[in-house]
Amino acid sequence: KANAEIIAVGSELLLGQIANTNAQFLSKQLAELGVNVYYHTVVGDNTTRLQKTIEIARSRSDLIIFTGGLGPTKDDVTKETIAHMFNRTLSLHQQSMKQIEDYFQKTKRKMSENNRKQAFVISDSYVLPNDHGMAPGMAFQHEGKIWMLLPGPPKEMKPMFLNYGIPYLKDQLGANDTITSRVLRFFGIGESQLETEIEDLIDKQSNPTIAPLAKDGEVTLRITAKHHDQKQAEQLLDQMEDYILARVGQYFYGYDETSLPEQILRRLQAIQFTIASAESLTGGLFLQLLTNISGASQVVKGGVVSYTNEVKQQMLHVKKETLQKYGAVSRQCAKEMAENVRTLIGSDIGISFTGVAGPEPLENQSVGTVFVGIATKEKTNVYELHLAGSRDSIRKRTVNYGCYHLMK
Ligand code: ATP
Ligand code: MG
Repeated sequence: KANAEIIAVGSELLLGQIANTNAQFLSKQLAELGVNVYYHTVVGDNTTRLQKTIEIARSRSDLIIFTGGLGPTKDDVTKETIAHMFNRTLSLHQQSMKQIEDYFQKTKRKMSENNRKQAFVISDSYVLPNDHGMAPGMAFQHEGKIWMLLPGPPKEMKPMFLNYGIPYLKDQLGANDTITSRVLRFFGIGESQLETEIEDLIDKQSNPTIAPLAKDGEVTLRITAKHHDQKQAEQLLDQMEDYILARVGQYFYGYDETSLPEQILRRLQAIQFTIASAESLTGGLFLQLLTNISGASQVVKGGVVSYTNEVKQQMLHVKKETLQKYGAVSRQCAKEMAENVRTLIGSDIGISFTGVAGPEPLENQSVGTVFVGIATKEKTNVYELHLAGSRDSIRKRTVNYGCYHLMK
């Protein structure tokens, strides 16, 4: 299995003038190809340091992709340096030369001798045409490793890689294999706990591979399988999914890009249930996320943003005694908010959010203390949460927890 390294060449990257978005783009693409990216390297436009970087890369990586330094100016040295190190010559690529001449004719600019330099490619390499600029890219095998050179400007590099780079890599990596991946989404379990539960599966992974990622209280696992037969690749994924869900199935809630709010909206749609929310610390975030999704009108009736105690009392009829005795951040208040918003709006479900988003504690309750109430005709459940993190993250995770408990 190939492991890859992306080398971005350009002093402006090291000076902090631009971010290395090329490496980000390429990493994502390579992950989808099932290639492991082990290193991102950034080096300036400097021959000596570029040489050192290449020495390191050839010792530790099987696929090395460069971006930048294919331009016409003196500081563009990528292909010259590589050719020199590998004892290869540069030769004029006629088609690229013609493309460059055409480009100058079309834009009625005068071509300089420098621009001819761009039409030179490392001999015996596969040329990746540049449909959005002048410098062609190139790729070749050397000492059993694949080397690929791409231009720096993202608007040239991206289409070149997608249209010519990927087919070349698939061909060279013997990968007429189809690569299929699937994302499993979990909630209510931390990343480290999830990884512990499936540690042995992660340790011996090769096909499918397992890649965990955590965000806003959610953990996702991307499983990726390779096989020359698409059906068999799917079967490998099914099997791995079974293994994983046998361990942590109770935390699983959905596939691929489906967010928790979307998942819950679809679920409520299917059973034709309506919902209303009473939101204090979330300030309407729950309804915002639900109404972002098309089809929300069948499910969402409305809600009350009851940020202050007055609004909790006047609009939601939360009892004065409740607020005095227990405070707004309490199980009792969450219960009344959920029950009352349900009956006031006339929905099947009422959900409430009250808590301390921070940064300051409230009513002697510490930051991250949250109560989520869920009321139906039959019963009301209140869930107590203790969340860590920033104000923003506490609010987001509160909504996610609300959705998660709705699912049950
Ligand atoms: P050119 O023909 O434009 O000189 P080049 O292949 O020589 O192209 P560079 O000179 O290294 O590439 O970079 C040209 C421009 O492309 C940079 O000024 C920057 O805007 C963009 N660029 C280069 N490298 C990256 C990168 N790693 N991530 C994002 N943008 C980049
Ligand atoms: Mg340049």
